[in-house]
Amino acid sequence: ASFKINETPFSDSYEIGDELGSGQFAVVYKVTCRKTGAKLAAKFIKKRRYATSRRGVPRNHIEREIEVLRDVGGHENVIQLHDVFETPNDIILVLELVSGGELFDHVCAHEYLNEAEASAFIKQILLGIRHLHNRFVVHLDLKPENIMLLRRGEPRIKLIDFGLSRHIYPGIPVKDMIGTPEFVAPEVVNYEALSPATDMWAVGVVTYILLSGGSPFLGRTRDETFCNITSVNYHFSQTYFANTSQFAKDFISRLFVKDVSARATVDECLQHPWIRGPDIGINDIRVGATINLSKIHGFKVKMRWRRALEIIRFCRAITRQAREEFKASKSMGYAIETKFDPVSLKL
Ligand code: ATP
Repeated sequence: ASFKINETPFSDSYEIGDELGSGQFAVVYKVTCRKTGAKLAAKFIKKRRYATSRRGVPRNHIEREIEVLRDVGGHENVIQLHDVFETPNDIILVLELVSGGELFDHVCAHEYLNEAEASAFIKQILLGIRHLHNRFVVHLDLKPENIMLLRRGEPRIKLIDFGLSRHIYPGIPVKDMIGTPEFVAPEVVNYEALSPATDMWAVGVVTYILLSGGSPFLGRTRDETFCNITSVNYHFSQTYFANTSQFAKDFISRLFVKDVSARATVDECLQHPWIRGPDIGINDIRVGATINLSKIHGFKVKMRWRRALEIIRFCRAITRQAREEFKASKSMGYAIETKFDPVSLKL
């Protein structure tokens, strides 16, 4: 591996505090550096013990996350990796502490938010993404949970969770069915080459939700969601977008483009009038356009329910799969295994 793992015991260097959050195979704790007193976050990633196991993260995936984090650190809108430790069960990433919570929670705490303020958030997300894309890193899991604020009440955005991210270089096609259904681009669903454009689609979904509280492609079932995505079936309904400016809708519609070469790039987005704002002396129409806060509240509540239901569905699928695998031939087993690879599980 091209990175150094600290060989000393983790607890010699850091004191573990409260849990900050968790993912499928990771738990994140607040930690204090014994030497400097600095407050940081430690992400304990459970290692996969056996190649055939479905629990834990394969080592090469953890190494990929570390490699990406090493490469993208040092940008104000991207989480910074400080150190890496290893124990028999886990690999521990010591990260910059992000304590302001998720962007959407911060937005919900407002009584009123106009589009100029909303577009300033999207601009910071774009600046973080531009830094990634300049380094040939594609995040591949941009969604509200992974867009956090550095400190409470301070509107500085940090992109987190590089667990699915990877380097993708021009001319070397990478295909993978990864991501979270609501946010994935048509090329993910169609198992076509992934690219920086894949992140830009997700920026469109995040912006759409931020402005309206509605999810653009979400169907009643996963297949319906995928079908909506591949046919680019969305609209700006009057209920959700009554107070939205034409600029904002134009910005979103430049991202919901199936042809990856025609989809707006991060640089094009940063040049878009909705992000750039008006020239001096011209009225900023974004200030008069409001975002639909009551619906965003609703989105957060619905999202929690959806995640809970997904977990239940996944447990059922695993039980079913175990039963089928018991009966199935080896080759069948492989087909089922790829379908439920834990890292692509979110699909
Ligand atoms: P998932 O399974 O959702 O992809 P994951 O296992 O890759 O998650 P992360 O998303 O990186 O793990 O972290 C899980 C949660 O821990 C985050 O949603 C967030 O609430 C919290 N978290 C992660 N990194 C930090 C950090 N640097 N500072 C504070 N909290 C963090």
